[in-house]
Amino acid sequence: MLTWDEALSRILAQTPVLERQHVRLEAAAGRVLAEPLKARNDSPPFDLSAVDGFGVHAADVAAASPHHPVRLRLAETIHAGGVSKTRFQRGTAIKILTGACVPRGVEAIVMKEDCQEEPTAVAVPRAVRPGENVRPRGGEFRKGEKVLAAGVRITPPVIGLLATFGYARVFVHKQPAITLVVTGDELLSPSRELEPGKIRDANSYALAAAIRATGIDKCRRIRLKDRPALLEKCFADAMKRSDVVVAVGGMSVGDRDFVRPILESLGVQEKFWRVAIKPGKPAYFGLLNRRGRGRPCLVFGLPGNPVSALVCFHQFVKPALATMMGLLPAARLTLPARLIGERRKQPGRLEWIRAVMSCEDEELIAEQVAGQDSHMLGGLARANCLIQFPLAADVLADGAEVIVEPLSWRE
Ligand code: AMP
Ligand code: MG
Repeated sequence: MLTWDEALSRILAQTPVLERQHVRLEAAAGRVLAEPLKARNDSPPFDLSAVDGFGVHAADVAAASPHHPVRLRLAETIHAGGVSKTRFQRGTAIKILTGACVPRGVEAIVMKEDCQEEPTAVAVPRAVRPGENVRPRGGEFRKGEKVLAAGVRITPPVIGLLATFGYARVFVHKQPAITLVVTGDELLSPSRELEPGKIRDANSYALAAAIRATGIDKCRRIRLKDRPALLEKCFADAMKRSDVVVAVGGMSVGDRDFVRPILESLGVQEKFWRVAIKPGKPAYFGLLNRRGRGRPCLVFGLPGNPVSALVCFHQFVKPALATMMGLLPAARLTLPARLIGERRKQPGRLEWIRAVMSCEDEELIAEQVAGQDSHMLGGLARANCLIQFPLAADVLADGAEVIVEPLSWRE
């Protein structure tokens, strides 16, 4: 059986980066930069005061001390947004507010809290270092400098930088259009009372939420009975209109697991089916090349057990969506941790154990949560990380060093 890494490589080898579009800054949060973010001006754009205080020439207060403060006449006041209206004279001071432009000749700003302010003068009780409390023009970025490369997620600080540099609109990568097709004769809407033999459909909602959390807002959600004719029509239509189709349930070898043969009959090329992982063995990935369309439709098949569906989404679908949205492949963050409690398995599949990691005595520890079966959403809901139980291993001893992957439903 294919290993997890091989399966993921097969997916990423077929995943296109979507083209770019120009969007308003207000609509850019959560998207991915499709152009480098350049400093369009020096930043700060002028020498500015970091504090509310008094601007002086360093030599004028060189002899100042708490017992012998230097008194300087106040020549003017400069507020944020204003500029000096006079020429700074040695032997005087100016009052200056945070964010205001520091006039030429003023070398340092003494904090207001340190000084004695009088109506027309200020007593400065200490010497200053030139540059003190002045944020120099271009101190962070010079005009033309590259601030961030393309391929970076537009987080709130990135939005702030875009605004700082006058990007009222910005090029971002398009988002994939996704159709989520959840199948099963047993599934009821969450608003329905339970009936014998039926369960409520958790996957539609859980996966739609997981997709939304990646920053994608175009996701159609369809729930279908295990009827080949219905499935065929639905998948044919979904693959016409979407960049990605995620089928959930019906991927295994049961009598009513119709999804694979139907995808095949519709021309989807299978890239893999079944991976040596737990949960998620029946995971599937295929491609439909569409005539006249620049790029293929990616088709994922996830097992119906809710934990398997979400873990497979996390391991396979999310990296593909991130690539389509233009995110540079980020190195996966894994951490060494100390395992609490023993765990055994048969060798042959990589297992992701749901766990809670925390810090104890300056060491990261990972404790398995109750509810490790693939239908036990409670375990996944409580977990904040997945412990990797390697494919070939059969035991993880209590206290063993393990690799954990923080579990975040974002990105
Ligand atoms: P399947 O992959 O279709 O064989 O389903 C495997 C298990 O997951 C069965 O117990 C299903 O009832 C359950 N299951 C399938 N789809 C869902 C769903 N949308 N929500 C909750 N459980 C599901
Ligand atoms: Mg089923």
